[in-house]
Formats: sequence, C-alpha cells, structure tokens
Amino acid sequence: MPNLPARLFRPELLSMSAYKVADAKNLIKLDAMENPYPWPENIQQAWLEALKACAINRYPDPEAGALSAELRRSQHIPENSAMLLGNGSDEIIQILLMALAADACILAPEPGFVMYRQVAQSLGLHYRGVPLRADSFELDMPAMLTAIQEWRPALIFLAYPNNPTGNLFDLQSIKQILAASSGLVVIDEAYAPFADASFIGELENYNNLLVMRTLSKLGLAGLRLGYLLGQPEIVGQLNKIRLPYNINCLTQATAEFALKNGDFLQEQTQNIREQRCLVYKALQAFENIEAYHSAANFILFRTKGIAAGRIFESLKQQGVLIKNLSPQGGLLENCLRVTIGAPDENQVFLNALQQALIL
Ligand SMILES: *Cc1c(COP(=O)(O)O)cnc(C)c1O
Repeated sequence: MPNLPARLFRPELLSMSAYKVADAKNLIKLDAMENPYPWPENIQQAWLEALKACAINRYPDPEAGALSAELRRSQHIPENSAMLLGNGSDEIIQILLMALAADACILAPEPGFVMYRQVAQSLGLHYRGVPLRADSFELDMPAMLTAIQEWRPALIFLAYPNNPTGNLFDLQSIKQILAASSGLVVIDEAYAPFADASFIGELENYNNLLVMRTLSKLGLAGLRLGYLLGQPEIVGQLNKIRLPYNINCLTQATAEFALKNGDFLQEQTQNIREQRCLVYKALQAFENIEAYHSAANFILFRTKGIAAGRIFESLKQQGVLIKNLSPQGGLLENCLRVTIGAPDENQVFLNALQQALIL
C-alpha cells in the first residue's frame, strides 16, 4: 500500500518530528534537569519492603487515593482545590489540550517549554508563541495583552520558573494575565522545589487558574508523576479524559513512600540550590560567557564571540553532556543550558568549559 501514513494521518502530524533525547552513555549527564543523587541505602531497603505490598496482578487504584491524600498533606494543597494526577506533567499537558475545542488557540511565551507547542501541534490546535523581552527574559506585557485580545486563547501556559531561561516571571504581570484572560491560565511549577514562589496560594482568587506540578525535578523523574490543581468544575471535566489507570501501582506506592520519607529529598534539593549558587558565580567569572540568574536546577548561559555549538561539542568530547539550545535560534542564539549536578560533576563541567573556551 503506497504512502499509507500520508493517506491516513493528519498533515500536522506528518510534518512533526518526534521528541529526541540525546544519548548520554558514558557521559556526565547534565542535560535533563535530573536530581543527581541516588537514594540512601536504608531508604532504598525500606522502599523495596514497601513495594512488596503492591498487588501487581491487580489493576491499580484508579483514584490513587492513598497517594493523593499524602500529596495533599505533604504539599499543603488547599482543601477546596481539586487534583488530577498524570503520568508525568507531560501527560497533564496532553489531557488539558485534548479537552479544548477544535478551534482553540494556545498561547505561551517563548522561549519556553517545548512540549506546549509539540502537544498542541500533534492535536491540530492553533499555537501562538509570544517572544519574551530580549533584555531580561521577562514577559513582554504589551505583546502578551495584545495577543490575548487578538487570539482569545482558551489556554495560556506560563512556566514558573521558566524553562529554559530559569527566571521567575514578574508576579504582578502574571496576575494581570490571569485577570485579562477569559481562558485558562496554567502555571507550570515544575521547578518549585528550587524556587521560593508558588501560585498555589492564589488558587482561591482566580477561577481560571490551574497550577501544575511534578515530582520529576525533585528527584523522581523515573517514576513519571505530575499533578494539576484547580477548581473542581474544571478539573472534574479534565478527569473524564484521563485514562482510568494512568498512575500504575508501583508509581503510587513509590511516590507515597518518597513523600512520607521525604527529608532526604529536601536535603538533596538544598544541596542542589547551594551548588547552583557556586556554578553561577563560576560561570560569571568567565570573560566570554554571560550567565543568567536561575530559580531552577539549571543555568542558561550564552557564549560571546565563540559559537555555542563548538563549546557544546568540546564539552561532549570531554565527557560532559549539557543542552545546546542555539539551534532553536531567536533569543536562544548561542545559548547552552547546564543542569546542576553533584559537586564533583559540576567541577568536571566547569573545568571542561574552561578547556573548551581556550581551545
Ligand atoms: C521538565 C518539565 C516538565 C515535565 O515534567 P514531567 O512531569 O517529567 O513530565 C513540565 N514543565 C516544565 C517547564 C518542565 O521543565
């Protein structure tokens, strides 16, 4: 059968490329905002013990009741907010966009998290990116408000802190967007463990506000667990799209265990925050690097007078994998993003960067 996909699939799908993940084999992996630390031995033993109680022959609890209760307790989730769990927050992005009308427009500032555009395109929805301010990576408020008026977006994504720029957008600007938008506004707090800011406390003040979080950047990226908070009327509708057993029993048991025994995760997070400060200072000391302040577990930096692609390749040659954002162009020209790792990994990265810059 010639050209079967072209006959059967939507044109927007045919024109997309699959999300690619770089091969990190034998490299120090500082490209994906993972927590570098394994679990302490005693915690690991207790966890394996807890997993024995999982009935792997049975379907998991479709409501993930025990895990939901533990999330509410440990993350101080307001009682009036409804919660939806996803197989990573990526799945929640998909659920959100699948619920929208076919002619809906989705708006997000750019550069931003690539999955917003990717998922919107895969569903054939209109996606509009509004450039951030070039000087500060802040929201360009006149442009945002004009875009809201013009496109009437059904949903706006704002990552807080933003990926890949690392900054927290101005609080008053976000409130202005919440007030100006007649559609949903999703505050994506994937990096909340590294920032001292959240919109969870604002949930009661805006009925179009949704707050999305994940356990991935905290240290459980392998699990795939994200959650969405908002008004019951909205979350209840989204829940109809969620597949009944989207959170498997091993994830439910492991996440519940990790949150109950979460002190070590707090310590790891604190350590990463201290390392972020050291790496930022070290980057600032390089003459031909401009480093941007970050409230997340990564730092964006720009090379000056030397192509970022060359630095990226040299680092890789020296055994360190970071993320080259320069191919995305625009405000990210000559930009690289490094995830904060363990102290020894960060030192290897900084030494390799120094080598790369003098080559
Ligand atoms: C990493 C990231 C996510 C995805 O998180 P998962 O829960 O692992 O799917 C969502 N939003 C932003 C801004 C991210 O950087």
